[in-house]
Amino acid sequence: MDQKIWLSSPHMGENEFNFVKEAFETNWIAPLGPNVDGFERDIAAFLGNGTHVAALSSGTAALHLALILLGVQHGDEVLCQSMTFSASANPIVYQGATPVFVDSEAQTWNMSPEFLEIAIQDRLKNGSKPKAIIVVHLYGMPADMDRLMAVAEKYGIPVIEDAAEALGSTYKGRPVGTFGALSILSFNGNKIITTSGGGALVSAKEEWIKQARFLATQARDAAPHYQHSHIGYNYRMSNVCAGIGRGQMEVLPQRVQQRRNNFEMYSQALSTFAEVQLQEEPSKDYFSNRWLSTLLIDDSKDANVSRESIRIALESRNVESRPLWKPMHLQPVFADAPFYGDGTSDWLFDQGLCLPSGSNLSEAELRKVLSIVQACFRLTENV
Ligand SMILES: *Cc1c(COP(=O)(O)O)cnc(C)c1O
Repeated sequence: MDQKIWLSSPHMGENEFNFVKEAFETNWIAPLGPNVDGFERDIAAFLGNGTHVAALSSGTAALHLALILLGVQHGDEVLCQSMTFSASANPIVYQGATPVFVDSEAQTWNMSPEFLEIAIQDRLKNGSKPKAIIVVHLYGMPADMDRLMAVAEKYGIPVIEDAAEALGSTYKGRPVGTFGALSILSFNGNKIITTSGGGALVSAKEEWIKQARFLATQARDAAPHYQHSHIGYNYRMSNVCAGIGRGQMEVLPQRVQQRRNNFEMYSQALSTFAEVQLQEEPSKDYFSNRWLSTLLIDDSKDANVSRESIRIALESRNVESRPLWKPMHLQPVFADAPFYGDGTSDWLFDQGLCLPSGSNLSEAELRKVLSIVQACFRLTENV
């Protein structure tokens, strides 16, 4: 059996273990401590723009707290990009609110500003004003923030940026995660940097971040005994995990460069095939961290090659690849949720494939992936 090539595996630098060791040596084995404070400072310094950061147990927990801070309650509606991982939408349901899904536009694959406005107008007509808008930067590609923020501001609805996949990406030179009222990051094992599991809530409003830390540590009032006036959560990041994060922040710029190099190599080798379309940056305003390199395979051009035929060919050689996220409006669990769109995310899902994209892939591994994909096309040329 060939050695497994993973879609996106953890890639440690030199100092992660030193920070973890320090946590052990000083006995800070708890969901607080110097690594947690340091990791929050490192992220805030990286994002700039006056951001404050709360390190949490996951990106999902960060989204849940973002919705709570914006006052999302039972019976409310929250607009959410349909083309995303289910973790973007699940916390809406935790709050007893209803997700209203919005389609993608073809340039960035992220939320369509047109359908966002159509959705808002229709919900207003039905007598309910959505409480928040969750915009995702898929695979690291920034969403069209100027136009999305303009629609959000026109109707006075706060934006939550789901930047779980996009740490290191910028839009018009400004880091994603600094546009919304609140933003979230994820440090799960497959993300561009990882703390094994973890996340963060980001905002320029310090009050919100303080409140998030309070809610994330069981909402204890100031009293010598355990006194509670709010429902709390156990959502804080461990000081051991935060040590991994501090080491990873030191290598983040390198990780972005390595993933961008993967995309460049795939792009040069595959863009010559008429059936293949890559997720291009629409203009110089968009800078993607290239978390995952993704392709669209137009199977109407060639009946013998499809997203699935390539995925299966890769699998047979022990190479992990994956279809794009299945949109939320097509998920059984969200079958009853309203959706506004024209089918863009449906065809992205039908045609899209994520290729191995780790920053630790060797050139030989990338060449192997390429040769398997190229063989899929060459086979059909000879038929
Ligand atoms: C990974 C991811 C999340 C969830 O982050 P966790 O840390 O795994 O909870 C949310 N949204 C998107 C788009 C993601 O890719």
